[in-house]
Amino acid sequence: MRVVVDKNLCEANALCVENAPDVFALDTNEELEVTAGQVPHDAEDRVRTSIAQCPRAALSERE
Ligand code: SF4
Repeated sequence: MRVVVDKNLCEANALCVENAPDVFALDTNEELEVTAGQVPHDAEDRVRTSIAQCPRAALSERE
């Protein structure tokens, strides 16, 4: 799976970074960055939790 962020919606509160620091990070401009092109299998559940819990609905799963 892959995950994408809509930067127009994201408020950069880093909740997803706490869940999956191997996939998400804040860049030097304090904007959310997806650092994993392909989500590692052992991170998929955490990423799906992040998608479900994002307060801005800014994350989406892609094939
Ligand atoms: S949880 Fe949502 S709003 Fe917060 S940093 Fe991640 S994508 Fe952005």
